Amino acid sequence: MEKIKCLIIGSGPAGYTAAIYASRANLNPVIYTGIEVGGQLMQTTEVENYPGYPKGIQGPEMMKDFHQQAERFGTDIRFGYVTKVDFAKHPFVVTIDEVKDVEAETVIIATGASAKWLGIPSEKRLNGNGVSACAVCDGFFFKNQEVAIVGAGDTACEEALYLSKLCSKVHMLVRRDEMRASKIMQERVKSTPNIEVYWNTETDEILGEHTVEAVRVVNTSSGEKTIIPIQGFFVAIGHKPNTDIFKGFLDMDKEGYLITKAGTTQTNIEGVFASGDAQDKIYRQAVTAAGTGCMAALEVERYLAAKEYEMSQQG
Ligand code: NDP
Repeated sequence: MEKIKCLIIGSGPAGYTAAIYASRANLNPVIYTGIEVGGQLMQTTEVENYPGYPKGIQGPEMMKDFHQQAERFGTDIRFGYVTKVDFAKHPFVVTIDEVKDVEAETVIIATGASAKWLGIPSEKRLNGNGVSACAVCDGFFFKNQEVAIVGAGDTACEEALYLSKLCSKVHMLVRRDEMRASKIMQERVKSTPNIEVYWNTETDEILGEHTVEAVRVVNTSSGEKTIIPIQGFFVAIGHKPNTDIFKGFLDMDKEGYLITKAGTTQTNIEGVFASGDAQDKIYRQAVTAAGTGCMAALEVERYLAAKEYEMSQQG
């Protein structure tokens, strides 16, 4: 079985930053990228708040830079999806694409988070036929048409603004009487003429047989139902950490975020470190993810050095 000194799972800012540090420390890291190479930033447009890019940068462009920087120091970057782990024994056994097992002395988890869905049947039935969780990926298909977007966080605002530039009208469905998004994003949304905000409004059902034709919404104060004709329905209600494969081994909170020792990236299993959105439900920024990726690589280095010292003392 192949033996890997430092295995990194995931290829967002956390994974690539861990790789850059681990490569430069001669730990010969191997990254398994996951299906979405580059992570969530591949679905973002303009990133304006990542230090070092004074003019801003497109998310996919930024991830290309991360990738190239990791490659420059010799990181072994492989396309593959981790389907199973066994952290009960050491070295850890990690299964790739259900078929290949590798042995890892240390693991850095950087699996990030994925979009949440409303969970209504019509959303599943029409997924890919007008229903999407990524305005940046699919907004183009609704050029000059009417669309709806659910959510009231920064992501929903950002996506509503993006859609407002392509679509004739954006109906924004907000379940409470206020938005969670930052003030500046709310102001931008409210001052955009072709975005209409529906307060206290929940999605009852998305209508249409083969493609989206309308959405039936319900006002939570009055109980009144309204049908809004639309062609596209976007969901932007937050994310779920990609940590299911670690259940049973690693401590996590009730939402599935990995729990690390305060001020470190150490999980409850020695040699397994967690970075990025998989362990962060508070900040969830590219720059904080990158920061914890760096921490994880430094901690791996220290862990391996301590182990080596221990072995030399025994020998
Ligand atoms: P958030 O968790 O911040 O917001 C999720 C939103 O979806 C909330 O308004 C929530 O409503 C709503 N929601 C959840 N479930 C449902 C449901 N079933 N039906 C209707 N509405 C629902 O997620 P985001 O993805 O927006 O943001 C995540 C993090 O990323 C935040 O920290 C944010 O600040 C950050 N971010 C920053 C950006 C930037 O700085 N440029 C851009 C994008 C994100 P309720 O409020 O009622 O709970």
